[in-house]
Amino acid sequence: MDLRPNIAIDGPAGSGKSTVARRVAEELGYLYIDTGAMYRAITLKAYRAGVDFDDMDALGEVATNASVELVAGPDRSLKVLLDHEDVTEEIRSPYISRCVSLTARAPKVRKRLVELQRTMAKQGGVVMEGRDIGTVVLPDAQIKIYLMASPEERSRRRLKELSAKGYKIGLHQMQAEILERDRLDATRKIGPLTPAADAEIINCTSLSVEQVVRMITERILAGR
Ligand code: C5P
Repeated sequence: MDLRPNIAIDGPAGSGKSTVARRVAEELGYLYIDTGAMYRAITLKAYRAGVDFDDMDALGEVATNASVELVAGPDRSLKVLLDHEDVTEEIRSPYISRCVSLTARAPKVRKRLVELQRTMAKQGGVVMEGRDIGTVVLPDAQIKIYLMASPEERSRRRLKELSAKGYKIGLHQMQAEILERDRLDATRKIGPLTPAADAEIINCTSLSVEQVVRMITERILAGR
């Protein structure tokens, strides 16, 4: 039996990957996998344990001993379980966003999470979003998309999400944090943020979510 294709969606923070990936998965009846949430969960565990974010071995140890699960809820929401505890909300807090790119530099953290992510995609039919999905996790994914948007637009989107949750951050600070996260993600040695050579690059600065979702689902439905 032919497996359903896998879709890899990569891009920088705030590019709209999560919203687009979730909607594409809904439309196609595929499984949505947010790999950033997995790095965030490991970051939370390290933070709670007081681990030094420059200590790569200690971060690797945290990842090796952590259980991270993504569980689809009945309303298609995604719950993130860290050692069986629901941390869905806590991993979105600004302090985790500030440290997550440090955790994501650690080779043993990446090795462990990449293994888990590949296992999740084994049966096909996943929409997986992150930074290294098209390049490292699923180099054979049938569809690879790299979503980008201007830093101003990305900061505005993130600010809107955080304000809705009651966090207060200024636009300038948000933009500085996003650019620093991009820098760390794009310059790390393993699995850096970069488009796969065969990815379609979509600049969605002035496209609606609907338009981007349609561009991707049409490719799948056309068998490309
Ligand atoms: O997608 P999100 O912004 O939640 O990702 C949080 C962080 O997790 C990224 O900034 C990056 O440091 C890390 N990450 C990664 N590889 C992935 C997904 C996320 O390094 N595949």
